[in-house]
Amino acid sequence: MAKSRCLLSRALMFSLLCAPEAGAAGGGSDDFALQRAEMVSRQIAERGVRDERVLAAMRKVPRHEFVPESEQRLAYHDTPLPIGESQTISQPYIVALMTELVRPAGNHRVLEVGTGSGYQAAVLAELVEQVYSIEIESTLAQRADGVLKKLGYDNVTVRAGDGYAGWAEYAPFDSIVITAAPDHIPEPLVEQLKPGGRMVVPVGPIAATQQLRVLEKDATGKVTSTVVAAVRFVPLRRRDD
Ligand code: SAH
Repeated sequence: MAKSRCLLSRALMFSLLCAPEAGAAGGGSDDFALQRAEMVSRQIAERGVRDERVLAAMRKVPRHEFVPESEQRLAYHDTPLPIGESQTISQPYIVALMTELVRPAGNHRVLEVGTGSGYQAAVLAELVEQVYSIEIESTLAQRADGVLKKLGYDNVTVRAGDGYAGWAEYAPFDSIVITAAPDHIPEPLVEQLKPGGRMVVPVGPIAATQQLRVLEKDATGKVTSTVVAAVRFVPLRRRDD
């Protein structure tokens, strides 16, 4: 049962009125589930993400498990958060938007570049058959792998390395999600996209706003690219940076 002492209208007023018993972070799983429901309706659905499967995944994945303990009380706020090693977990809306843009289907094999906390990988894992995720910072790769295993996401495989070259062993992919910003679209990743596949990638110069782009590869292999939004991601680094 709810650990909060609040009796009425928790769904609407929990953030103002409730006094969680588990300390400043709240922390009851019911509290977190309510915060997720709020997050989805106010930050995500209201801004135009419509795919019901994506909304359900965002309601389900325990984002607070993917952030450092000191950030857990902010886990469902409308903001990116630090995850260590100078990296960040993206704002919930951006995770939902990128997930919707690749049109995940139950039989898909997806590559993610930039595992970070593992949260985006978990959201994808709720929606597709298999997720392969590469993280250049081995500390983060290990930590994300541990959280994903603990939560039972056995359809995610994490590897430490430079994702610029993709993961040829498991290519081609139905979709590719790049969650760090390159200054150009990595050609090896375009090659590892299936005909009919989609890639979502923030492209742009370091320390500037980037363009969130969707690339579509048609059945003949022709690639088209569309700009969807202005975003701000940490840079995609190369191994020798
Ligand atoms: N998707 C993550 C957030 C990613 S932040 C999440 O859900 O938490 C971007 C991540 O990309 C950082 O962790 C950064 O270390 C990683 N990164 C940067 N360059 C990379 C590269 N070339 N290959 C793989 N990962 C990279």
